[in-house]
Amino acid sequence: MLSNKMKITVHPEKLEDPSQRQVGFYMKYASFVLRTLRRPSFQKFLSWMLRKENIEEHTVRDVQVAVFPFQRKNGNGLAGHCNTNRGRIQIYPKTLKFCQELMQESGKDKFTLYAGSRARAALIHELLHLKYANDEEKVRELTRKYFAVFAQNRSAQNSHMPSIYNMIFRREATENALKT
Ligand SMILES: [Zn+2]
Repeated sequence: MLSNKMKITVHPEKLEDPSQRQVGFYMKYASFVLRTLRRPSFQKFLSWMLRKENIEEHTVRDVQVAVFPFQRKNGNGLAGHCNTNRGRIQIYPKTLKFCQELMQESGKDKFTLYAGSRARAALIHELLHLKYANDEEKVRELTRKYFAVFAQNRSAQNSHMPSIYNMIFRREATENALKT
């Protein structure tokens, strides 16, 4: 199972002199993401997807859930990264500022669903890079497809899911948020 290869990693250099409050927030965020990605229903879904795509599970060496966000030089965040040679995937959180604004705007439940869904979409995306390498278009198309398959099961129970889906993939289009 992929869940055994997942862990939280801290790269303190990514954030200059974080405050206690930031550290507390990001640690909670990372453990939430790890729990979300390890959930049996999602693990089962990932195994199915890997089989369907003929991606061997052993090509994934580890999945690191980064505590601190990764900011590109242009200011845009990064949802994930895949080192295809090493089989190492990294998943990054949104910034504290973004999360606070979303929480104020939409409430805690919707924020929680967004954060978990974004991490799932990022992991799906990066796993697909193991097979499709630099074919970003193909990876994005399939990410949308597979995420929709997974989300269908949840959307029946959660009325926020369609708007979360749009948020994740609209952002991807406008900000390249999921681009490796
Ligand atoms: Zn990508």
